[in-house]
Amino acid sequence: MKAARFEYARAESLNHALDILDAERSRIKVMAGSQSLGPMLNLRLVRPESVIDISSLSMLRNVTKDGSTLCIGAGVTHAEIEDGVYELLRGHPWQSVAAAIAYRSIRNRGTVGGSIAHADPAADWVLAATAMNAVIEITSKLSTRRVPMTHFMQAAYTTVLEDQEIITAIHIPVMNDQVRWGYYKFCRKVGEFADASCAAYFDPTSRVANLVVGALDGAPKSLTTLAQIVAQKGWPATGRETITEHVSDNLASLDTLNQKMLVTVISRCLDRAFNTKGPA
Ligand SMILES: Cc1cc2nc3c(=O)[nH]c(=O)nc-3n(C[C@H](O)[C@H](O)[C@H](O)COP(=O)(O)OP(=O)(O)OC[C@H]3O[C@@H](n4cnc5c(N)ncnc54)[C@H](O)[C@@H]3O)c2cc1C
Repeated sequence: MKAARFEYARAESLNHALDILDAERSRIKVMAGSQSLGPMLNLRLVRPESVIDISSLSMLRNVTKDGSTLCIGAGVTHAEIEDGVYELLRGHPWQSVAAAIAYRSIRNRGTVGGSIAHADPAADWVLAATAMNAVIEITSKLSTRRVPMTHFMQAAYTTVLEDQEIITAIHIPVMNDQVRWGYYKFCRKVGEFADASCAAYFDPTSRVANLVVGALDGAPKSLTTLAQIVAQKGWPATGRETITEHVSDNLASLDTLNQKMLVTVISRCLDRAFNTKGPA
């Protein structure tokens, strides 16, 4: 199937894009890498009257540092992060997250902002950003607002974004030597979306302890109490039984197979965070 007819415009600047969005208001879609929008247009799951393409906006393709925060432009591609194109992200743990997204051809065009705006429950940036307490910068013609990732995604493919808004950046904390970061996902085939995923972020300096699981029915789920136990006891001292208890208490709606898969994914994520081989 081919996409239904739509008007196409390439934004020449962010203001140009925002002006068009403000004038059209509805039945208009922003296009970034088109790696999710393209298939949705072709399958006619979305039928916008017009599309505004923001992929050539260089101002959305940069990474800057502001004190203890890294600001990743929404138009930065998965491949640019994987390849360490931006100095501030060289050696950053998000490099390996990027490298495991889909296939290289998708990573070449797919963007961080597009992935977060699309809000697929199994998307890697949605999970990684939630675990890092990311803040999403959203701009419209009238204002810029900042929304914590934990409030940004409301359900599968549903966010707080309004029709006339564009995600302009994702703010994450600068890593320090004390931070423990782990990321693990289980995919049936290389290049496919995850069946179960987990991200761990422990920063003793700021006392943040996040253990977040993804690839669920909706937004990623934070296992807050389990994260605190791990922060206190460490891993593998926390033990797989404790994880099993917390998964069954917090994710009771999952069937036994998915609960078991998640327990394994969380254990392996913690192995990576604590650089250990945890209990089998
Ligand atoms: C076969 C396949 C496998 C994939 N596997 C994975 C995977 O394993 N892990 C993973 O995380 N992802 C995966 N993806 C998705 C991929 O990462 C996409 O790149 C990403 O989801 C969308 O980014 P994009 O820049 O292409 O956005 P687009 O496709 O252009 O846009 C997606 C949506 O976001 C909106 N949008 C885009 N940018 C903005 C913005 N700045 N502000 C506001 N709204 C915006 C669009 O209007 C649209 O609704 C896969 C995709 C395919 C086709």
